[in-house]
Amino acid sequence: MNVLVINCGSSSLKFAVFDLEKKACILKGMAEPLLGGSATLLWETENGKQSVKLPENADLESALKVVAEKLLSVLDLGAVGHRVVHGGEKFKSSILITEEVVDQIEACNNLAPLHNPANLLGIQVAQSIFSDIPHIAVFDTAFHQSIPQEAYLYPLPFEFYEELGIRRYGFHGTSHHYIFKQAAIRLDKPESETAIISAHLGNGCSATAAEAGKSLDTTMGLTPLEGLVMGTRCGDIDPSIHGFLQREKGLRLKEIDTILNKESGLLGLSGISNDMRTLGEQAEAGNPKAQLAIDVFVFRLAKAIASLRISLSHCDAIVFTGGIGENGAAIRKAVLERLHCFGCLVNGAANVIHGKESNGLITTENSALKAFVIPTNEELMIAQETEHVLK
Ligand code: ADP
Repeated sequence: MNVLVINCGSSSLKFAVFDLEKKACILKGMAEPLLGGSATLLWETENGKQSVKLPENADLESALKVVAEKLLSVLDLGAVGHRVVHGGEKFKSSILITEEVVDQIEACNNLAPLHNPANLLGIQVAQSIFSDIPHIAVFDTAFHQSIPQEAYLYPLPFEFYEELGIRRYGFHGTSHHYIFKQAAIRLDKPESETAIISAHLGNGCSATAAEAGKSLDTTMGLTPLEGLVMGTRCGDIDPSIHGFLQREKGLRLKEIDTILNKESGLLGLSGISNDMRTLGEQAEAGNPKAQLAIDVFVFRLAKAIASLRISLSHCDAIVFTGGIGENGAAIRKAVLERLHCFGCLVNGAANVIHGKESNGLITTENSALKAFVIPTNEELMIAQETEHVLK
């Protein structure tokens, strides 16, 4: 079966088609910037990359119509899988989209005001274009719904949780779930006996402790701002910094929110860039601010991994994924060296080539804890989840 995977943002449409018998991506592309002037549609097949300009001010509907007519009309699609960022407490797994499900996703809009409305629009537009095949929603939060209450509750007045749903939800769930399954295969263990800590390190970063196919704790919270140092997001900070900034600098809440989400993290610390590759190059060239940003990133990541360990009965491996996790050999080495208390021994040669000749393994044979590099594939996971729901 061919499954179309759709990921709609506020200004972009990403799509991919998977042939699930062959587990192969046969078409992948994106259209952006939507509603922002002259958008371009880019796509890639086995024949290479191509692009066309979309009409001026193209919106999601017109972009998806072009994709459907130009690229999808020759493919026999069996279903559509939609990435949905927030499923609240309602959605613990992927689900066939009905009118009721659309209403329930809409009810989660306040938890992800930038993402869920765009995801919903994508569902509605796609349902009108591909009206005779099933549509499935796959949630970023669903994998983390197994996290126990002591790990997901904030120590705030309990009615905030009951009335407003203020709790830790976690994100990147599709990626962490995919990585868990891949790790079990590489460890040659049944999923029921596998326990890992996965670090998804891209522009957004999160780490998750998962055992027997279930997430038991993760670093992101009510929003994707909590947890690790990220490209422009601060991660964990003392919550009274809000009040301090307001008193000392006269900043308003909205301005503080922007600083913490868009001007902090690697960018804020370094004053140079939010891009880890750039910071690595600058640090190599002797820039102390770039090195400082990397050091804080590494320290906090290692600390988070150590604290995630307590949720697991045992730990088979630490797994690195995402742009930084898959490509940043120096970052992985520094994090694993920080985790010396777990007896991690990095295999320098394997790490430099991202474990490419050792099934992803980057630790030595006598390391007390294994570490792997495993490329994530959220689109494939959404396609597989779509098939799973249909079965
Ligand atoms: P997104 O979360 O937007 O999908 P990616 O997973 O592509 O992002 O990750 C982007 C991050 O990966 C950037 O910080 C980028 O610098 C980093 N990255 C890519 N290549 C390397 C590399 N060779 N070394 C270190 N970091 C890298």
